[in-house]
Amino acid sequence: MPLAIPPWPPQTPEIATALMQCMQNGDWGRYESQSKATLLASLQKKFEIEHVRLCCSGTAAIELSLRVAGVGDGDEVILCALDYPGNLRCVELIGAKPVLVDVAPSNFGPDLESVTKASSKQVRAVIASHLYGRACDIGALRDLCDANDWVLIEDVCQSPGMTIDGRAAGTFGHLATLSFGGSKPLSSGNGGAILATDNRLAARLGGLLDRPSDAFPLSALQASVLVPQIARLQTDNEHRNRIAKQIQQQLEKRDASLQCICETNIAVDPAYYKLALQTESVAIRDAMVAAATQHDLPLGKSFRAMSRLSDRRCRKPVPLDRAQMLADQICVLDHRALLIDEADVGELCELLLESSRGCGR
Ligand SMILES: *Cc1c(COP(=O)(O)O)cnc(C)c1O
Repeated sequence: MPLAIPPWPPQTPEIATALMQCMQNGDWGRYESQSKATLLASLQKKFEIEHVRLCCSGTAAIELSLRVAGVGDGDEVILCALDYPGNLRCVELIGAKPVLVDVAPSNFGPDLESVTKASSKQVRAVIASHLYGRACDIGALRDLCDANDWVLIEDVCQSPGMTIDGRAAGTFGHLATLSFGGSKPLSSGNGGAILATDNRLAARLGGLLDRPSDAFPLSALQASVLVPQIARLQTDNEHRNRIAKQIQQQLEKRDASLQCICETNIAVDPAYYKLALQTESVAIRDAMVAAATQHDLPLGKSFRAMSRLSDRRCRKPVPLDRAQMLADQICVLDHRALLIDEADVGELCELLLESSRGCGR
């Protein structure tokens, strides 16, 4: 019997009702819609933060954050060599130079020591992404940024609802970004948001977006389908966390060559967009992803490492070995596979193992 993985995008009655309401009451045709006001209020409440702006994508949120941070021609921005590739493009497109650092030893974010070594007079901002459900060293990065007068942009596109020491991820950076893209746990097909903890930066954000109509808008229709998803985010995150832990425990017992990399920091309540599974080589990983696809498992490859980027395009002050190794060896299981019944975890692990073994080992 095929594994019952829930459909994506989610098809709940609440989403259908919200969309119909937005249609019927004319909200869909307004600049200032009730749907957007409701979405804003629920994000403010969820993240316990005052300054939130909706925008058209997570990528736009990163680019707008960089501009609000005052990054421009000749400046440098530090980011991890393993990151969403669009983040690096944003840095380049506004005329700044990316400075690549390695991955931290105990999460998928920028390594603190590398960031310290990457310091220069030109650095103005640091982008730190919480990747594959694990929290990066965001508190320490904030301290480091404050000490150097750098703006910290916290990328929470993959982990809405994650908390660190009981505090929402997205409230540690001077600015933070959310994505509501088509593959994300909160989705309206496209969309994003920018959170600001700093009043001065929040004011500048208004100046950039309001001209006087919103220059990078999220529509009322998009906002309407997000509200019910936020309402059940906590429940879904808890479900995904439970399944992720069980996958890790079962794989651990079965095969040491396929490792599930869950959050291990007990101060973190994780939120999985993709769950990382580490294989022993790029060849095994690639074959495993191909085999899993045959089994209809939503398994993909990690982001590619940006470590091979030319020296003309970026500065590379430290070795990027860990980023390269992880980018080669990691495959990622999509969040919808983490919404399966607990009773099906055994079967899911069986399929993962079978996929990894059909690879000539
Ligand atoms: C998806 C993603 C983005 C970009 O979001 P879009 O809405 O697709 O533009 C940025 N950063 C990370 C870490 C992401 O996973």
